[in-house]
Amino acid sequence: MKNYRAELTGVFGDPVDDNPTGVVEEAAFAAKNLNYRYLTIKVLPEDLGKAMDSVKIFDMKGINLTMPHKIKVLPYLDELSPAAEIIGAVNTVIQKEGKLFGENTDGKGFVTALKNSGETLDKKNVTILGAGGAARAIAVECALNGAAYINIINRSIEKGEELASLIQMKTDSSAKYLNWKNNMAIPSDTDILINATSIGFSPNVTDKPDIDYTSITPEMCVCDVIFNPAETIFLKTAAENGAKTITGLGMLVQQAALNFTLWTGVEAPVDVMEDALKKEFE
Ligand code: NDP
Repeated sequence: MKNYRAELTGVFGDPVDDNPTGVVEEAAFAAKNLNYRYLTIKVLPEDLGKAMDSVKIFDMKGINLTMPHKIKVLPYLDELSPAAEIIGAVNTVIQKEGKLFGENTDGKGFVTALKNSGETLDKKNVTILGAGGAARAIAVECALNGAAYINIINRSIEKGEELASLIQMKTDSSAKYLNWKNNMAIPSDTDILINATSIGFSPNVTDKPDIDYTSITPEMCVCDVIFNPAETIFLKTAAENGAKTITGLGMLVQQAALNFTLWTGVEAPVDVMEDALKKEFE
């Protein structure tokens, strides 16, 4: 018997029109000859509960969550991964037999991209600029992957302190909040420096975090979450100082690859996904 029914996945967000994930996932489904669809769906905050019911009603394989749903979706889920539990937010949900399982692959995608570049987190000192959703996911995964110490540098004190104490209390890593001063010097024992703020994202491509760039040394590995543009001024300046750099594209592709495998059970065609994303930002 022929099967005319496609398996459904997608993303709920508001705004969501400019979310490029569909291009990446659809390219992967085609490459693996899977009859799956990725739908980019606008869901207003007040409709999130009904939308999550529809994931079950339509027997969708899963759904991604983006702004403003990553935290608000928690009451509608049956189970959370250990990392998602600590982070307190999910970016993807898997549906099986009417049960919704929440996972956070943002930080896992970052760690995979970092490890693929030959780095390890074991006993490393990490400094993170930012304390928003991306920083939170990255900080927790760095801690769960063996980081010794995590400095959180953030503009708003409350959010920075909250993230540092979350890491300190819920993981085996030590963490400290550092108040973001003008021309902020990066702690000299930093092994891995990460910009997890939204500074530098297109169209504000000439913006860069207000840090003392002379404090970036060749011994540091410097990473950005910004993927458009991939080569941010932050990374270019770090590279001029001799530091190794990693763009935000790897994190984006790797989290999409993890979501692909969680929904399909099939190994993700990472190269195809990366090409599709790069073409989109050409
Ligand atoms: P949030 O809004 O949750 O957090 C933004 C963070 O940036 C906050 O810590 C905020 O500080 C800080 N910030 C913003 N502007 C400034 C400024 N001028 N000076 C100092 N700090 C500033 O956003 P997300 O964490 O969800 O996303 C952050 C970025 O990461 C976005 O650009 C997003 O596109 C990107 N991202 C990339 C992913 C990838 O796969 N590569 C995945 C997820 C996100 P404060 O607390 O003081 O407001």
